[in-house]
Amino acid sequence: MILPPATLGMLGGGQLGRYFVMAAHRLGYKVVVLDPDPASIAGAAADHHIVAPYDDTAALHELASRCEAISCEFENVPAATLALLEKQKPVRPGASAVRICQDRREEKAFLRGANIRVAPYLALLPEEPIPAQASELLPAILKTAREGYDGKGQWQVSDLDELASALAASGVPCVLEQRLALEGEFALTLARSPGGAISALPLVQNWHSGGILDQTRSPANVPTLEREAKGIAEPLIAALDYMGVLTVEFFLVEGRLLVNELAPRPHNSGHPSLDNAGCSQFELQVRALCDLPLPEQIAVRPALLINLLGDLWQNGTPDWAALLALPDLHLHLYGKGEPRPGRKMGHITVTGDDWSTVEETCCKARQLLG
Ligand code: ADP
Ligand code: MG
Repeated sequence: MILPPATLGMLGGGQLGRYFVMAAHRLGYKVVVLDPDPASIAGAAADHHIVAPYDDTAALHELASRCEAISCEFENVPAATLALLEKQKPVRPGASAVRICQDRREEKAFLRGANIRVAPYLALLPEEPIPAQASELLPAILKTAREGYDGKGQWQVSDLDELASALAASGVPCVLEQRLALEGEFALTLARSPGGAISALPLVQNWHSGGILDQTRSPANVPTLEREAKGIAEPLIAALDYMGVLTVEFFLVEGRLLVNELAPRPHNSGHPSLDNAGCSQFELQVRALCDLPLPEQIAVRPALLINLLGDLWQNGTPDWAALLALPDLHLHLYGKGEPRPGRKMGHITVTGDDWSTVEETCCKARQLLG
């Protein structure tokens, strides 16, 4: 067990890293963030910020020497970086699990191998001819195998010509996924300790707009789906021998769940836990990293989350004072500089004792946001 006031390391310096810093600080730990951006918002909140690329060996040695254990806030940290750090300090999640989650081809092959349902797909390479089976998947979504997020690196394709131009435009390995008629989107965030104990937040329901998360309802309040999701995610996290926080994104299709993708970290849709749960996803991340006890049950109150994207600033700064006048509304702003369209600048979570109050307040908040 790594106890406070030990120093913990965080690879990545965005809002997820920033919440990790806050959760670690609350428990009495110190945090060193490594992120190449000198303006990193997690770096600014941490005790120390190493400004360096993720493959800077000297910087990684410095991080390892300053910290007792290391975690990450995004899946695109090179697996080789995690492997190098692992030789020196506990790294949770480890290189082998993150390597799978950072490549859609590996991820889907792993899921299929574990008999978990995924959307019908094909792996494609830009330099190779498109196989005949591709036409059976159309209309489809072409996704870059690596580095995609918030719907970036995706092309909607409805015929083979569109597919050929999208694949050529991508210039990188991709997966072609059948476009499914989704009856709903859900996510389960869970933590696993080095000893194998598992703790899960309740299943949440998500609504996306233009590939970006717009709204989350926590808890989703569908007990049959929550059981199904846990029945998929708990064996999955154990099969990955995963240590840390993992989010499993699900699609509901024809009344059954299939796995969309895995995020080897806390997740935007887990943010309601900052305000509605006995233990947030970031405290779970600190606990799993440090091998502290994980909570057996996490009680939650009804909550709705609305993401605040940079688009909102197009007509000036939103009226924070009016929003903050609403009862049980929790405003989170991440402290990022420029509010670009599609950039996640913050979120609000409305909590309450019952759904009708939460929905009413959320409706008023939406009106204020325009
Ligand atoms: P990202 O890494 O950007 O989150 P996802 O694969 O999760 O990429 O896709 C983003 C969103 O696009 C999903 O949450 C869903 O709304 C939509 N989407 C993705 N794949 C499919 C699909 N096969 N069929 C229908 N909608 C999809
Ligand atoms: Mg996703």
